[in-house]
Amino acid sequence: MAAAEHPAARALLDFIDRSPSPWHAVASCVQELATAGYQQLNEGNPWRLESGQGYYVIRDDSSLIAFHTGSGAMAEHGSRIIGAHTDSPGFRVKPNPLKRNAGLDTVGVEIYGGPIVATFADRDLTLAGRVVVRDGNGELHTRLYRAPNPVLRFPNLAIHLNRTVNQEGLKYDLHQELPLILGTLQEALPSRSDFQALLARELGTDAEAVVSWELAVADTQPGAFFGLEREYIADSQLDNLASCHAALEALLTAPEDGYQGLRLIALFDHEEIGSQSFKGADGPFLQDVLDRLSEAFLDGTGAARQARARSLVLSADMAHAHHPNYARYYDLEHAVHPNRGPVIKLNANQRYATDGVAEAVFETLCQEVEVPVQRYVHRNDLPCGSTIGPITAGRLGIRCADIGNAMWSMHSLRESAGALDHDYMIRTMRHFLTRERLPLREATP
Ligand code: ZN
Repeated sequence: MAAAEHPAARALLDFIDRSPSPWHAVASCVQELATAGYQQLNEGNPWRLESGQGYYVIRDDSSLIAFHTGSGAMAEHGSRIIGAHTDSPGFRVKPNPLKRNAGLDTVGVEIYGGPIVATFADRDLTLAGRVVVRDGNGELHTRLYRAPNPVLRFPNLAIHLNRTVNQEGLKYDLHQELPLILGTLQEALPSRSDFQALLARELGTDAEAVVSWELAVADTQPGAFFGLEREYIADSQLDNLASCHAALEALLTAPEDGYQGLRLIALFDHEEIGSQSFKGADGPFLQDVLDRLSEAFLDGTGAARQARARSLVLSADMAHAHHPNYARYYDLEHAVHPNRGPVIKLNANQRYATDGVAEAVFETLCQEVEVPVQRYVHRNDLPCGSTIGPITAGRLGIRCADIGNAMWSMHSLRESAGALDHDYMIRTMRHFLTRERLPLREATP
């Protein structure tokens, strides 16, 4: 099968290539939402919401909630919510980043979340994120920034100087050995103002106008198909831009008929560092938006509670695909594979929020659109990761299924997954947003 026959996966790779940071990811989503006629709402203003309309809200450039209000009574129909996260683990540039070392200027970085550090070595790295600039009137603005070329490098130590690397693995002194090589800026020792000047030059402004920044270290290699039949995809940030993109496509392509309640996607920053921030899943962003929707469409808190009881959340994040060379790390009765459909993630300790009922609902949705489905359970003797599912379910009191596509090398700079699964996920999510009633007695009138 040729890559052209995986248009959904192709669109995902293009989306990721346009989105080298969470701030860019939200901008990429906004582009598609605006094209589809969704209107932007500002949290600082009053909202005038109408039935049957699409809207989106951005919180602090990197978290986004988009929704379609539907034309039916919210209390009766409840809400269908899909959650995902916009951030990926990696490196972030420090406030005083430049340091001269043996004649070379290096860029100091902090570790963001839990990346596989070694995967950043020997790649053509660049910078992407947002810069805070002060305009002529003294007002502060944020601007997206992406360095046009690979500007940074993290070279491996030669094997002749590290003879046991293949037996003992790549280990780092994360303070001493992480600064990335930039080059030599000038003869004088570099300072913060040199970095400001560097950003200013590319943003077309003065060095004094550059006040601060949040910059991620990003890969410059575009996404690619691989495998004999080109049946796999490789790119950075598949965790979790794949789920963000699937949710967005599902929302924008869901037909107007069918389900008439609220369809909402919530894409949060800061999942990789625990979600606790004013724009993370453990903050009030989603609750704030739902409250304003309730004020607009519902008669009092009783109706809002009624709507919640009829709602369901799909928390979409990636799952660990079975790696044949490392079988000992998996529960083989619950091994999941790329290209075999969405994964339902289950954990008795609620590290994943899926319960038996949510599991059954999601399986039903997959079956109804002829999408295969798999189940994942982590080994008992390895600590299980978590995601926004349990947080969202706990905050809102809405039942939740944690689901996602299988992938290899989670938190590598270059992750990989199945090319077919992205289309499977979009179809299932679209069906979730469209099916007139959930196949669930208590959630239907
Ligand atoms: Zn994730």
